[in-house]
Amino acid sequence: MNKEWHEIPNLKSLVVVRNLVKHYPYRGGPLGRVRGWKHAVDGVSFDIREGETLGLAGESGSGKTTIGLCILDLIKPTSGSIQFDGRDMASLGREASKDIRREMQIIFENPHASLNPRMRVVDIVSEGLFIHRPDSPGAYRETALEMLRKVGIDRHLADRYPGAFSSGQQQRICIARALALQPRFVVADEPVSALDASIQASILNLLGDLQSELGLSLLFIAHDLRVIEHVADRVAVLYLGKIVEIARRQTIFSHPLHPYTRALLSAVPALPQGSKNQRILLSGETPSALDPPQGCRFHTRCPIAVHHCSIEEPSLISVNGDHRVSCWLVDGSHSG
Ligand code: SF4
Repeated sequence: MNKEWHEIPNLKSLVVVRNLVKHYPYRGGPLGRVRGWKHAVDGVSFDIREGETLGLAGESGSGKTTIGLCILDLIKPTSGSIQFDGRDMASLGREASKDIRREMQIIFENPHASLNPRMRVVDIVSEGLFIHRPDSPGAYRETALEMLRKVGIDRHLADRYPGAFSSGQQQRICIARALALQPRFVVADEPVSALDASIQASILNLLGDLQSELGLSLLFIAHDLRVIEHVADRVAVLYLGKIVEIARRQTIFSHPLHPYTRALLSAVPALPQGSKNQRILLSGETPSALDPPQGCRFHTRCPIAVHHCSIEEPSLISVNGDHRVSCWLVDGSHSG
């Protein structure tokens, strides 16, 4: 599935995210008063270009899913802006918003939970057509059958219920449902995490083939860097709601610069392009998003932190073209 950068035919940005912030209220006590704010996403900026896959990597709780849901307009950002194909999502009217939703779809982690067990799979796949394309009802079934064929589900199985399928087949049905409306952009949120390792590769290959065939842009969310390595053109690494490094896949996996990226990669066994050899063990737990550390958010666990790291937050700066890193020691301006 991997494409070299120069093979991506069109580098126009389809999704533009700028200074995205999402804070959730934390409530407690008998009256449910707001006791604090969870800083799920805290000033994130990136683009997703037409036809590319941006991999979003990071531990559980780093803000990956929140970013995906904000882009899809399923939750409202606290601040910041999101543009889709040049249109500001926050200023869209109801009709324009509905149109744009048709162009964006999501594939969830757990296929079993995201399929209605009382609907036939052909109806599940064609459901979005009823909502978004009410002008051509006669074509729904054929469109759904064709999408099912594309994902490897034979038409003679189309009138069965989800429970008759394996988890890998169920995820194929979810992919068919997401692609039936011919979206331009898909958020794939840990789409293979709930599947057996033996099935993961076939689902990833299917997604890659469909992406190439349909010219999709993908935001691929995963905590497993082996999966990211398999699918992404570029990779953004997230820590406690902030991007700490973003670069082309080859660069991230062969020349990671941020200490957190290096630690994540060092924990992955047998990466084909693995840069690491020595395991980097991080001390302590990830701090709470309710009270993130001052300065660099990673300084409480960073093996090379210096005094300045706890005082001032580093910016995400370009070190080489598309390769951007947020670390005082990478630009060499603070060594102690
Ligand atoms: Fe580590 Fe300091 Fe760099 Fe943060 S800024 S990653 S604490 S060296």
